[in-house]
Amino acid sequence: MEKILLIICDGLSDRPIKQLGYKTPLEAAFKPNLDKLAYRGMIGLMNTVDIGVRPGSDVAHLSIFGYDINKYYSGRGPFEASGYGVKVKSGDIAFRGNFATVDNKMKIIDRRAGRIEETKPLILAINKIKINDIQILVQQGVGHRVAIVFRGKNLDCKISDTDPHLEGKTLLNSVAASGNSDAERTAMLVNEFTQKIYKILNNHPLNLGRIKRNLPPANIILLRGAGKLLKIPSFYQKYHLRSACIAGAGLYKGIANIVGMKIINVAGATGKPDTDIVAKIKAALKSFSKYDFVFLHIKGTDVLAEDGDYIGKKKFIEKIDRALKLIVPRDDILIVVTADHTTSSRLKIHTADPVPVLIAGDEIRSDFIKTFDEKNAYLGGLGRITGNHLMPILIDLLGRAPLKGA
Ligand code: ZN
Repeated sequence: MEKILLIICDGLSDRPIKQLGYKTPLEAAFKPNLDKLAYRGMIGLMNTVDIGVRPGSDVAHLSIFGYDINKYYSGRGPFEASGYGVKVKSGDIAFRGNFATVDNKMKIIDRRAGRIEETKPLILAINKIKINDIQILVQQGVGHRVAIVFRGKNLDCKISDTDPHLEGKTLLNSVAASGNSDAERTAMLVNEFTQKIYKILNNHPLNLGRIKRNLPPANIILLRGAGKLLKIPSFYQKYHLRSACIAGAGLYKGIANIVGMKIINVAGATGKPDTDIVAKIKAALKSFSKYDFVFLHIKGTDVLAEDGDYIGKKKFIEKIDRALKLIVPRDDILIVVTADHTTSSRLKIHTADPVPVLIAGDEIRSDFIKTFDEKNAYLGGLGRITGNHLMPILIDLLGRAPLKGA
């Protein structure tokens, strides 16, 4: 075995659900292909960041890729911006943003401006804003989403969000989290930028047109997740593996991009439950002619769980399983299936419950567990690991791990 296919199904695991007879959606799903892989391979439980820690998707992925989040993570912004196509530079401060609707007292009426789709003219109108010597880039994301990058000297990401995260609340002023003068300056710039945006967008023809059609105007951008791009070793530097990423959603492409994976764009990969998983798997298998490691991300499981749709999540797991039929016969590839965190369909949030992890390949010491789910993972041969253990285990299975001692 020389190749690794790492499939991360976002928020795949869940808690037992009363309406499913106290099974999780993964336990309740019909998934013969995942079960075949489990039988051929070994399974276990993984706390992607640490025991008792509720991970965000960004830090969970970094941990699984073997990056120490205390060293390489300062906020979600740079990863999101990179996924939207911004070439984030060292020292940039990046944010995730939402086009939203506020009234004239800055009260949030709609956090997504009626899930506006057409934002290009608005972005063009605000993309020329410069404050002092700071250049501000605005990059369009999907729908109401946007990435904002502040570029210049003496900036710091230790500042609070302007997004109050709740409708009916008032837009927040960003403040420095410490007495640091760079953070104070950055927070001030963020507030000034936000005021300027409102002045430009509130009277923008596109918004006046929306008001006429009884649609909420996208007259503000709510900023959150400020982060600075820290110097990070590439995936190749760490593992000497040529790596690629197949994902629909921006954040995952951004993380992969920042660690130097090649992004393979697949038609039909939407980052939503309607995604074309077969097309993604086919693209992954094809890419092994050029790459040693392919990270394939599937977002739908998390989207459905965050909507509380446990039936939809179960059906979507069955859709993943049908697509995995393509890889079950491949014993030349080390196949890994796992999640970045548990998402509780009842609570509609990420939880700290460990995720199941499966490793299958022709030299794997099979543990004879025949079913891939949260409960069987307790019994599996892989035992219990944390995210930072996964890559060393895989590198060793390839026969490429360095020897400790002599
Ligand atoms: Zn996630």
